[in-house]
Amino acid sequence: MSKSVAIIGGGPAGLMAAEILSQRDVKVDVYEAMPSLGRKFLMAGKSGLNLTHSEDYSLFVTRYGNKQCEIAKHFADFKPKDLLAFAKELNVKTFVGSSGRVFPIEMKASPMLRAWIHRLKIRGVTFHLRHRWTGWENQQWVFETPAGIIKIKSNATILALGGASWPKLGAKGDWVPWLAQAGIIVKPFIPANCGFYVKWTTHFSEKFHGQPVKSVVLSFKDFKQQGEFVITKNGVEGSLIYSASAKLRDELTLTGQASLTLDLAPDTSTEKLTQALRRPRGTTSLSNHIRKTTGIQGVKLGLLYEFIAKEIFQNPDKLANAIKALPIPLVSPTSLATAISSAGGVSFEDLDDHLMLHKIPGVFCAGEMLDWEAPTGGYLLTACFALGRAAGNGALRWLGI
Ligand SMILES: Cc1cc2nc3c(=O)[nH]c(=O)nc-3n(C[C@H](O)[C@H](O)[C@H](O)COP(=O)(O)OP(=O)(O)OC[C@H]3O[C@@H](n4cnc5c(N)ncnc54)[C@H](O)[C@@H]3O)c2cc1C
Repeated sequence: MSKSVAIIGGGPAGLMAAEILSQRDVKVDVYEAMPSLGRKFLMAGKSGLNLTHSEDYSLFVTRYGNKQCEIAKHFADFKPKDLLAFAKELNVKTFVGSSGRVFPIEMKASPMLRAWIHRLKIRGVTFHLRHRWTGWENQQWVFETPAGIIKIKSNATILALGGASWPKLGAKGDWVPWLAQAGIIVKPFIPANCGFYVKWTTHFSEKFHGQPVKSVVLSFKDFKQQGEFVITKNGVEGSLIYSASAKLRDELTLTGQASLTLDLAPDTSTEKLTQALRRPRGTTSLSNHIRKTTGIQGVKLGLLYEFIAKEIFQNPDKLANAIKALPIPLVSPTSLATAISSAGGVSFEDLDDHLMLHKIPGVFCAGEMLDWEAPTGGYLLTACFALGRAAGNGALRWLGI
């Protein structure tokens, strides 16, 4: 092997680059800052590894919003079905959940990661753990390692350094200044698929934190989706919130305010709710009357008490309207450190079609460190795998292999 490629970052994108390169006549070294590989991938598997989504590709690709053209290029020969074939090669059987999301039968990431690393080692990939890239010196890549500083040279390098959420899993975005030295201005990382702070009263927060709010429709501008979320001590989080989070976050950044709107009874029309609420209450308490006539109770009822004026409860028309469109004012997104993913990163404008940096020939970027975002639903991992693959192929092309 006369040519060598260094891959910095051993997450899904970096490993997929190694997958491509290790099948050709090239020496592959993966440098990873943490003591083990794929920590975020393993964390993703803790609550059920959502590998990809089974929806039609024409819809799937729209999930990448204004970056769909850039991302779609790299799906050309690696679509969700190809990811499933790849998982199968690693003996990972998958199933489609009721929402169309695709999971491994074992739900975890560890069997896939173990089998994959094993196969990469057999193909000759060398893994250098506890090697944190800390910059350049005389065209060499400098790493902090337990044995001190080391410097390496390679014929091509793939950066797959991840975004900046959950920094304790390894990806911290601390490489931004080193790319800036080379004139690459990285867009600041911001939370994506994140929760939001809400000013709950102490009473509501103490009573309902940790409780799911199920089967509601969340609307915000042109976003409208049914699902569920969770009340936290000081806000909201969960899949439905994450789906709307990019739009909510951008509105908060732009105007300083944003309210999401909840339909607490999506299967019942306003008219039906009004009729039901008009039924004579007798001596029944107001809460019991609402529960018996509309089915609204528990945390949903708590939300109504939290956000609507007392007099509205006496007016069936207005109360029905509030049940169908309850505004929840948000304060701000929760921190980047707790977000599922991040937006921001290296701009596609700084990269050619093969993900090579225009300003540093021979250096490629892949995965979440690039400036794109997508909702949860398997879209993040699918794109990271596809981008890692594209960077691997890009490096082969650059090396003329
Ligand atoms: C709780 C949670 C659940 C998730 N669930 C899902 C899910 O179900 N489905 C889905 O599609 N996505 C999910 N994601 C997102 C998904 O895990 C990430 O998008 C994906 O791991 C990003 O892959 P990557 O290879 O680009 O970056 P990473 O996985 O972050 O890997 C980057 C690697 O680079 C290393 N690194 C960083 N800096 C340096 C340096 N200076 N030197 C050397 N190494 C360095 C890091 O240690 C890390 O190992 C989840 C994320 C979280 C946090």
